[in-house]
Amino acid sequence: MADQEGSARIIDGAAIAAGMRRRVARQTGILAERHAIVPGLTVVLVGSNPASEIYVRTKLKHAAEAGIRSRDIRLPADVTQAALLDHIAALNADESVDAILVQMPLPSHIDADAVTAAIDPQRDVDGFHPLNTGYLVAGWPTLTPCTPLGCIILLRSALGELAGLNALVLGRSNIVGKPMALLLLRESCTVTIAHSRSRDLPDLCRGADIVVAAIGRPEFVRGAWLKPGATVIDVGINRVERDRKRRVVGDVAFAEAVGVAGAITPVPGGVGPMTIACLLENTLHAACLRRGIAVPAAEP
Ligand code: NAP
Repeated sequence: MADQEGSARIIDGAAIAAGMRRRVARQTGILAERHAIVPGLTVVLVGSNPASEIYVRTKLKHAAEAGIRSRDIRLPADVTQAALLDHIAALNADESVDAILVQMPLPSHIDADAVTAAIDPQRDVDGFHPLNTGYLVAGWPTLTPCTPLGCIILLRSALGELAGLNALVLGRSNIVGKPMALLLLRESCTVTIAHSRSRDLPDLCRGADIVVAAIGRPEFVRGAWLKPGATVIDVGINRVERDRKRRVVGDVAFAEAVGVAGAITPVPGGVGPMTIACLLENTLHAACLRRGIAVPAAEP
């Protein structure tokens, strides 16, 4: 974590994620040596959404660097739901596939919930399958959604112990907001979930020691809303045009928030790299759990 004089500490997600990727690479090395197992990740991409193309390329590149056998299956945007489900059934039955990820969003003619539910829960490295969601609610060990898991790791790196802190999660999606709130609860935070129908967001923010913003609204959370010294995790990825340049900004007005918060994640370079690092870790865990093998401890 870097220090900036007179402003919040910047939580360096890129550096923490790089450390996690190196650790996974050491663990896959041990797995190969001791058990002759190379974890396999398959990413399914439907259509050619430019942002999804970039995410998939980055995921496959980092997976390969971490000793994970990775491949993508590309299907046309007009693929039928039945054909997509057939592909998933084939992957579920393929012994060389430890991890299946269907890149979202899917075209509107496809029922994303049905696709999520079709993935073998043991290979569901996104952690979105209803069974894995149920385990998360119950507090049982499970494959945990990558983005919220990455946020918890960043929060622990910034704050150490999280118990007793007031945490506000802005957003209630199944992929970020809800699992985020459950993970914060697991850390014994006092958790509030806010959404588009919530009243007086500035007031809710002012009471929060931790703010996790996941709403998809560029620079929506203002610096003046924050409690001085709060820790801010900005999940948002919003593509905007500023000064005639295309830029990516978060859900938090960073330039304002950095003067009020105690610690804050930048966008880019905060949560994004952690999501991919957690995907690699989940793939390693899925490969071990499915075979009843303990996850190798990373040697220093
Ligand atoms: P989503 O499914 O669109 O959900 C957005 C949530 O924000 C909803 O719960 C919505 O409330 C709430 N919301 C929207 N406008 C609001 C407002 N004005 N005030 C309060 N709440 C509001 O989005 P998502 O998939 O969770 O993603 C959220 C953001 O995180 C996006 O920018 C996305 O690109 C980014 N993201 C980043 C990563 C990463 O790796 N860094 C991963 C996933 C997502 P309702 O439920 O009431 O509609």
